[in-house]
Amino acid sequence: MSRRPTETSVYVHFPWCARKCPYCDFATEPIRTPELPHEAYADALLRELDARAHDLRGRTLVSVFFGGGTPSLWAPSSLARTLARIRDAFEREADDLEVTVECNPSSLSRDDAARLREGGVNRLSIGAQSLRDRHLRFLGRLHDGSRAADALTDAVAEIPRVSADLMFGMPGQTKTELAEDITQLAELGVRHVSAYALTIEEKTMFGSLHRAGKLPVASEEEYATLFETAAERFAGLGWTHYEVSNYAPAGEESRHNLHYWRGGAYVGLGAGAVGCLDHGPGRAERWRNDPSPQRYLRERTLEAETETLGPNEIVCESLMLGLRTREGMCLSRTRRRAGIDPEAGRTREIERAIQSGNLVRDEDRLRVPESRWLKLDGIVRDLF
Ligand code: SF4
Repeated sequence: MSRRPTETSVYVHFPWCARKCPYCDFATEPIRTPELPHEAYADALLRELDARAHDLRGRTLVSVFFGGGTPSLWAPSSLARTLARIRDAFEREADDLEVTVECNPSSLSRDDAARLREGGVNRLSIGAQSLRDRHLRFLGRLHDGSRAADALTDAVAEIPRVSADLMFGMPGQTKTELAEDITQLAELGVRHVSAYALTIEEKTMFGSLHRAGKLPVASEEEYATLFETAAERFAGLGWTHYEVSNYAPAGEESRHNLHYWRGGAYVGLGAGAVGCLDHGPGRAERWRNDPSPQRYLRERTLEAETETLGPNEIVCESLMLGLRTREGMCLSRTRRRAGIDPEAGRTREIERAIQSGNLVRDEDRLRVPESRWLKLDGIVRDLF
């Protein structure tokens, strides 16, 4: 995956949710109309796809990810129509093309999962977050623990590969609760878990409550203990901790996310979507679409922001993304993308990090050992 510059992923953003969760700062808004514009949104996405056709020439499609928002609120027929046109827009596609749809337990039935499979979807990522009613209530989610388990069971029955999102660091969450949730997910047939710490984002309801001193939050030590608990439980299951927040048995890793962490090209479609394509060594263009779904539908607005990445920015981004993974950052690939030696100008910092055990050089790779992942942000910052 992601070895050749023409390999390309597509991210499709579906910008609506049934209700805004109090901790979420994603580009998403609650549904305000009686009926979602299922077909109109697909039409708008296909207009954007047509407008980007010249960028897709000669590229190979390796993965498609429908994220959000809550794409499981979208009519499966509209999603399948969009997927079929995306596949047609590429000259070639990988034999193991991965097509993932993010789903919420409150809006996924077994029938929906079957229709998504028929439409070409081969992976679901379910926003379970927890299997405990108490923690789900705190997170303001629309589902309870038994609904989450039912949705996962239905997904596993219909779709070859199922991932679950799991959140940790809710007030009062114990190590045992987290470990038991992980065991139960594996027993339900889930073969990939993204485990994220609850973070308090400024522009959210939790952010306001926190500023007002009305939200209990876990301490740094509690987060660290829960992070280590999760890592131990997954290791006990024989799964690999292949990225700071992601675990899977060998071969079940998210190909879409690996492509992104390896610095692969990706096209973003939809309101608020982000894309980034290389234009020769040392230059990449990143864009972000207007986040307003209404303007996206009405005014056909595409890019709200564009940014050109030069050689050093490409190296910094490769460090930031690549060092999140167990395999680390590939030096020769980064050199080819950036057009410069990624170690130039930071040899002293790299040597210092290696001496202190924060960084390991494995032939053509630099990586941070798992035992230092809790300090990852600081380690990467020191290399910039
Ligand atoms: S369902 Fe997901 S994307 Fe939507 S508001 Fe909640 S956390 Fe955010």
